[in-house]
Amino acid sequence: MDNTLQLSSVEAISTQLPEQSLFADIFSQHSGADYEAAINQAKELVITFLNRQKKPFSGISPGQLNLLFEQVDLDVPLTSYQELFHEVDQLYVQHATAFHLPHYIAHLNCPVVIPALAAEVLVSAINSSQDTYDQSAGGTLMERRLIDWTAQQIGYAPEADGIFTAGGSQSNLMGLLLARDHFALNRYGHNIKQDGNPLAAHRFRIFVSEKSHFSNQKNAALMGLGEQSIVSVATDSRFRMSMDALEAAIETEIALGNIPIAIVGTAGTTDFGNIDPLSDIADLAAQYGLWMHVDAAYGCGLLLTDTYRYLLNGIERSHSVTIDYHKSFFQPISGSAFIVRDKTLLQIIKHHADYLNPEDQDYEEYPAQINKSITQSTRRFDALKLWFTLRLMGRNKLGEYIETLISRCKEAAEIVRFDPDLELLSDSDISILLFRYAPEGLPEEQRCAVNQQIKKQLFHSGEVLLASTKVNGKFYLKFTIFNPLLTTADLHDIFHKIKVTGQQHGQQSN
Ligand SMILES: *Cc1c(COP(=O)(O)O)cnc(C)c1O
Repeated sequence: MDNTLQLSSVEAISTQLPEQSLFADIFSQHSGADYEAAINQAKELVITFLNRQKKPFSGISPGQLNLLFEQVDLDVPLTSYQELFHEVDQLYVQHATAFHLPHYIAHLNCPVVIPALAAEVLVSAINSSQDTYDQSAGGTLMERRLIDWTAQQIGYAPEADGIFTAGGSQSNLMGLLLARDHFALNRYGHNIKQDGNPLAAHRFRIFVSEKSHFSNQKNAALMGLGEQSIVSVATDSRFRMSMDALEAAIETEIALGNIPIAIVGTAGTTDFGNIDPLSDIADLAAQYGLWMHVDAAYGCGLLLTDTYRYLLNGIERSHSVTIDYHKSFFQPISGSAFIVRDKTLLQIIKHHADYLNPEDQDYEEYPAQINKSITQSTRRFDALKLWFTLRLMGRNKLGEYIETLISRCKEAAEIVRFDPDLELLSDSDISILLFRYAPEGLPEEQRCAVNQQIKKQLFHSGEVLLASTKVNGKFYLKFTIFNPLLTTADLHDIFHKIKVTGQQHGQQSN
């Protein structure tokens, strides 16, 4: 290839730009100043968001917001960035949920680290696409290094491989799809990618805990196995998959003539934050010849701390793992990965397109991540965010955040245990707490309603954003502690607000 020739021809084009104004909005060699001005204003609005927002939510209702949206005519463009930022502030930023504030304690939304935000600036502007080397170059190699690094944290051997995905649901899909396709190939010599599901597929069974993520059901449906293929296994007193129940479920399905193909162990359930017994699952998977997938979308943060890494023991014996960097690695959405123990297992999903990844290309020399992707072709360079984070902060600092979350959660559990007005349902291996407002004077039949009111009122006032779930028909409040900056004082304040709100509603219903 003659690089000098190519470079000079680009310069030749750049000197003769027609109709400057028409093209001013295109990110190009001519628009550095326009780009900088726009990005600076965006940055200012972000700073305003940080300085202004005192509560995690404004409390606005969709109805109120809709009134503002009705005034917008999308067919009439605004005339300046000033107007644009003003409009977006009113419609969005002022009311955006502020995950960075400690009184946001609801879902699995982490505050994000600044190096990753700096990376985002590059990711969107340079806009590499990670499908092939010729659309990303160093981007592909960075992604591959980070996949290898993640595999190493899991404890996989160097044969491991994987790909960044859009999220945990998608990574879980890859796990189940590989499990299914390899099963059919090994058992019947049947190629599902080529020929579709075999007749026996309606008897395929996948075992998950009853507290596993719903993406397993959705993915089974997508794969043509139907939600019926998912066997929900009962959990123990700490809401982890019961091994007795798992073995019994496998035996029952076999006795019914059904065909177990995989077990999904959840490392950190969305509702309880607890970790299925991964080593025991690995034993049973080996005994029955099943694929073991670990959904560590939430629990993956434990890979970062030597103190708590033992909680994931057994993960290294799985066939595949889901990692959500946008949960426990403090990365902006999106950032997730699917990692597989042995790279040859990924061969089964490869599809060659002559224009993109032709069969005769040497993929050792010109790697193409597209070969490992099932649902994305054009794909963001999310890996750069993790690269920035890891290179600047290092694994241990992230690990310290995770350790902080775990101790805060323990602290919160203690507060609940010792408060006669609160009732603890479940503390967690990681950072989720389930409890309810349940003072002695409040009759059982009113407790669900009062706790629902607490959550609702705190949401509409925007003061505290809580999550909730139902366990055995009872309504519980849920903390997902994901902010390392949450202090003991914040915790006390949040509990205080919960109790004060509970008292008001408790009295009303008496
Ligand atoms: C959040 C979550 C998922 C889904 O991940 P997304 O990134 O939201 O698609 C899957 N499994 C578990 C256990 C989760 O907590």
